[in-house]
Parts: sequence; C-alpha cells; structure tokens
Amino acid sequence: MSEIINHKKNQLINLLRDKGITNEKVISIMEKIPRESFIDPALKQMAYDDDALPIGHNQTISSPSIVAKMSQIIIEEDKMDKVLEIGTGCSYQTVVLSYLFKKVVSIERIKSLYIKSKKIVSDFNRNNIKLIFGDGYMGSKIDAPFDAIIITAAPNEIPKSLIEQLKTHGRMIMPLNKNGKQILIRIKNTPKGIILKEIDDVLFVPMLKGIIQ
Ligand code: SAH
Repeated sequence: MSEIINHKKNQLINLLRDKGITNEKVISIMEKIPRESFIDPALKQMAYDDDALPIGHNQTISSPSIVAKMSQIIIEEDKMDKVLEIGTGCSYQTVVLSYLFKKVVSIERIKSLYIKSKKIVSDFNRNNIKLIFGDGYMGSKIDAPFDAIIITAAPNEIPKSLIEQLKTHGRMIMPLNKNGKQILIRIKNTPKGIILKEIDDVLFVPMLKGIIQ
C-alpha cells in the first residue's frame, strides 16, 4: 500500500472516532478491510476519503462513516447469528458484517453487481456470506428468521415483508424516505409490534422493486 493511502487510512480512522464510532471491533474491522479492493482502480486514491463513490449502474459504495455507523448500531451482544442485508452493491458493507455476524445473507437486484461481488467475496475467502441475486423486498424466506436486517437503499415505506422475516426482538436498520428527506431509523420487532427510533439524516440511493438482468 502506498504511503499516501496508509496516511489517509489513519486519518479516516481518527475521523470515525470523532464521528462517534466507539466500538473497537468496528474500528479494527474498518482498519483491516482494504476499501480500495471494492472500487474501480481509477478511484483508488479516494478509497479512504469519507465519501460515497460510484460503483456503476448509478449506484454507490456507502461512505466509510455510514458503514461504520450502521455496523455499530446493529451490534447487540448474544444476538449476532444471522443478518440479512438488502443492497449488496460492491459488497463492502457485506464483508464488514461478515466479521460481526456468524452468517450474512445479502441480496442485490442488479445482476452485474451481484456477479462482481461474488468474485470479491470469494477473493476475500469469506465463507459465511451467501449472496442472492433478487429483489430485496422479498427477503429470503429460506434463510429467515434473522437476528438483524440492514437495508442500504432507501424505500418509501418500511417493508412489511422484511419485518416478517425478523426474529421476535430482532432489529432492523434502514434509511427511510420521509417528507422529502431521508432518515436513518432503527426498528425493534417486539411481540406487541414494532418500536421505531429515528437516528440521523442520511442520503442513500432508492430501494427499487424488481431485478435488472
Ligand atoms: N451495501 C453497499 C451499498 C450499495 S448501494 C455498500 O456497502 O456500499 C445500494 C444497493 O442497493 C445498490 O447496489 C442497489 O442496486 C441495491 N438495491 C436497491 N433496491 C434493491 C432491492 N429492492 N433489492 C436488492 N438490492 C437493491
């Protein structure tokens, strides 16, 4: 790794701490995973800027601070068996999750992104990740129920079909379009219904229906 990239990586880790990432496991995972491996080589110099970057098909790799934040929020000791991610994209968040959960299932609706991610996941030897090409609104009944669900694209409504695939007391982290803006929300699935907490303003690509072959 070039010295510049190394320096930028150290700066980014300091920035994550400044932005409230206190979980040392999340910090060490962010330090360990080479973000440059998930993006176009032409963008390598920008790999450790705290920005979303293009990955083709009008989609983006989420910024490191949002990946770290969602990862930190989703941690609940003793309930880290199975997570479902909607929106694999380039699989950066997927690989981060694979160091936190025993099993990760991730769904992507654009076939070429799914195929690229399959290669990356096998290059990284992450054998606790299952990638699915399909519409995330359907979830994965065969793998349900999940301890946690993380959506990395913004829907206009909380997808009921996905709440149904959460364990009782499971949690879901997602951006939601509301009144012309997007907010990151955390949902808890209790026997009496869902409990919703608003966390922050965010900006994600939209969660769309159907697949692109
Ligand atoms: N998790 C990624 C973020 C990728 S951007 C990261 O680590 O950077 C969001 C992704 O969600 C895009 O690739 C988009 O194609 C995908 N997406 C949008 N709607 C979807 C749906 N209904 N099902 C599955 N994937 C979806």
